[in-house]
Amino acid sequence: MNGTRGSRRFLASRLAMLPVCPKRDGRGDEVKLLLCGYCKDIRALDSAETTICSCGKTAARYRDDRWHADIWGDDCVLLGLKNDDVYPLLAARNAAEGERHAAELVAQPPWHPRARYRPGGPD
Ligand SMILES: [Zn+2]
Repeated sequence: MNGTRGSRRFLASRLAMLPVCPKRDGRGDEVKLLLCGYCKDIRALDSAETTICSCGKTAARYRDDRWHADIWGDDCVLLGLKNDDVYPLLAARNAAEGERHAAELVAQPPWHPRARYRPGGPD
């Protein structure tokens, strides 16, 4: 990489890989992440396939509306990261020493309107 141009190219390539949810009403747009209590793995939900943690005990999948998600596993939780918080986090790649970049991860427990916790495993 060479300076700002190289950094921008790197950032653009990373952004293209993120499973950012499409904008709906401008409120609550977020990337959903699966946190497994067994292996402590955190994985972004894949937009097309079921996401399974590294130990295989938990899984999650977006529904067709890409707004709701189904989650399987006895010890896991769905997390939400606002789309708008993703970009400042990526900017940390070029942060100056001492500069801090942080974002809020919000747990989406079973009562959450967009998280559907299911018994058993995915179909
Ligand atoms: Zn696991």
